[in-house]
Amino acid sequence: MSDLLFAPAVASLPISGSDQRFPVARVFCLGRNYHWGDSAGQPRSVPLFFMKPASSVIEAVGELEYPTQTNEFCHEIELVVAIGADGFQIPAHQALEYVWGYGAGLDLTRRDLQMAAKAIGQPWEAAKAFDGSAPITPLVPVSRIGHPDKGAVWLSVNGVERQRSDLDAQIWSVAEVVSQLSQSVRLRAGDLIMTGTPPGVDALLPGDVITAEIEGIARLQVQVGERGQA
Ligand code: MN
Repeated sequence: MSDLLFAPAVASLPISGSDQRFPVARVFCLGRNYHWGDSAGQPRSVPLFFMKPASSVIEAVGELEYPTQTNEFCHEIELVVAIGADGFQIPAHQALEYVWGYGAGLDLTRRDLQMAAKAIGQPWEAAKAFDGSAPITPLVPVSRIGHPDKGAVWLSVNGVERQRSDLDAQIWSVAEVVSQLSQSVRLRAGDLIMTGTPPGVDALLPGDVITAEIEGIARLQVQVGERGQA
């Protein structure tokens, strides 16, 4: 470490009920993990993963920066899984042993950029991986709450509910998500997995107050800031 040119920035999140913080390694995100109406009844295929950099993680408090280059800044409330041990090609029946804790997070999206990228087969980074695009609550350890597999998932904007589902409606369980992802990459302690959002994703405006909860895990409230200078 002493040979490093400068000290690396280490993203981290608070741990509920502790003075310690959880160091964030990488952020994996799962695509569709709840039926949105257009997919109801269809067989599940292979889970789609994309990434945000650790630098996109911020604490879900106070004001969110309204990102540049978008006119469709959207909210996605998601269960966040915090990985606490390294593992590769983990069988589903052992996968929960690698989960350290859980939180609630927003997979913030420049949806207009995502749609434009999808339309021409380009990657999603510009839509998903911008600074501050992953506000997350303090993480709650498994030692306190176990592995919740049911509980309301909801999000409201200015007191009006926009998203509501339940953890038991997820297409892929946490164990399946961890197992599937670990077939592709070596999971590391500190990795986070954002596990997909229910329907009701919509655009945010400056001044909007977002309240959201994963029942039994965490609740958050943030406000959308003013647009910066383009
Ligand atoms: Mn998402």
